[in-house]
Amino acid sequence: MRIAVIGTGYVGLVSGACFAEFGHEVTCIDNDEAKIARLEQREIPIYEPGLDVLVKKNLEANRLVFSTGYSPGVPEAEVVFIAVGTPASRRGDGYADLSFVYDAARQLAPFLSDYTVVVNKSTVPVGTARQVARIMSEANPTATFDVASNPEFLREGAAINDFMHPDRVVIGVDSTRAEEVLKAVYRPLYLIETPFVITSIETAELTKYAANAFLATKISFINEVANICEEIGADVQDVAKGMGLDGRIGKKFLHAGPGYGGSCFPKDTHALLRIAQENGVTCRIVEAVVEVNAAQKARMARKIRKALGGDEGGKTIAVLGLAFKPETDDLRDAPALTILSTLLEHGARLRAHDPQAMPEAAKVLPGVKYCSSPYEACEGADAVVLLTEWNEYRALDLMRIKQSLKQPIFIDLRNVYRPKAMAQLGFAYHSVGRVKVG
Ligand code: NAD
Repeated sequence: MRIAVIGTGYVGLVSGACFAEFGHEVTCIDNDEAKIARLEQREIPIYEPGLDVLVKKNLEANRLVFSTGYSPGVPEAEVVFIAVGTPASRRGDGYADLSFVYDAARQLAPFLSDYTVVVNKSTVPVGTARQVARIMSEANPTATFDVASNPEFLREGAAINDFMHPDRVVIGVDSTRAEEVLKAVYRPLYLIETPFVITSIETAELTKYAANAFLATKISFINEVANICEEIGADVQDVAKGMGLDGRIGKKFLHAGPGYGGSCFPKDTHALLRIAQENGVTCRIVEAVVEVNAAQKARMARKIRKALGGDEGGKTIAVLGLAFKPETDDLRDAPALTILSTLLEHGARLRAHDPQAMPEAAKVLPGVKYCSSPYEACEGADAVVLLTEWNEYRALDLMRIKQSLKQPIFIDLRNVYRPKAMAQLGFAYHSVGRVKVG
């Protein structure tokens, strides 16, 4: 099949490359000329494991092309996916900013030739698909198309595997013709018996927000349990294990830490609240999830201050990890942004390392010294904070870290290390939801 993907970011590029890998002919379109120029040079503008190999392979097979324009690409396509960003609105009111989606709809409509299925892959509020259809009809009154919703559930850092082996595919349609076209797009996944949820457009749109809000709820829930653990001397990891082995609860997303971040959970929880509010429904659990998450980030900054004797002013702190999770360079809404800004405001000097996110971090956190290794970051620091659980921080040479530090204070906000072992090595070790040792 011929497919066009509008928006070549984390979702659009991964989806485009994976559709090409399915055997479709894909045009990935982006209005960011620099991004397309880099892709044409086979340079991947984001860090996503395995993506370089997949893009190169499909470029060489002529199944994947990149373009800054909508034609060629859209006119030949049987299916056009809209995968542009839907960030939180700049007004700060929690609404999703749909201007990129609506612009894409307006721009692509004049290029539609035969019957085309236009699919929202971006995470969008309920009602957006209908609005996209209206915009396209206005821009091109003679076009024949259906609009569908196909929210994306991939995780950055594991995006290709998630796309190729999803837990499910959700398709919101209101015509059997569009349903058949989308089933044909995903035919290879039918063969591996991936469950398909075929539903109304509104249901599909809401499903994405409900799924993300539920995952955020699990995180905020276990973070509150961690806070209780710290007061009563319990171990949150054992509590999470004891809970998670119950099949009704499940083990995933029960890791206590500095709070959730990233390009999805923060904006999607807020957007769900707005959808509820607009429809006169209260959504108290998600309201609390958002509040708990903000409080958790603030609590982490206080934890660091306390570990440094109550004042971080003038102290040097090594920070390991900046991205909101490992295996990505994505810094959007990362807990590091809030926590590091608080430490800087209180006069701390920061030396940071992250395997991928430092170029982006340098743009938004200019007052930080960026180091080429975790050991360099620790040199002469009063304490080290582990903020993102990259694999390379899971097997640190702890004696080397200890020797580099001025004081052996280790604040592990991802519970990577074992308290007893850290105490034996002579660290004052602070973690989340576990007893402080040393
Ligand atoms: P992104 O910011 O990485 O990429 C969006 C791209 O769209 C950018 O390259 C931008 O230049 C391009 N663009 C914007 N307007 C355009 C236009 N009119 N024409 C052509 N290109 C245009 O965003 P992302 O992280 O890929 O997210 C895209 C959507 O997918 C969002 O709605 C997001 O919530 C959702 N989503 C993201 C993830 C994730 O992990 N990043 C996972 C699931 C769903």
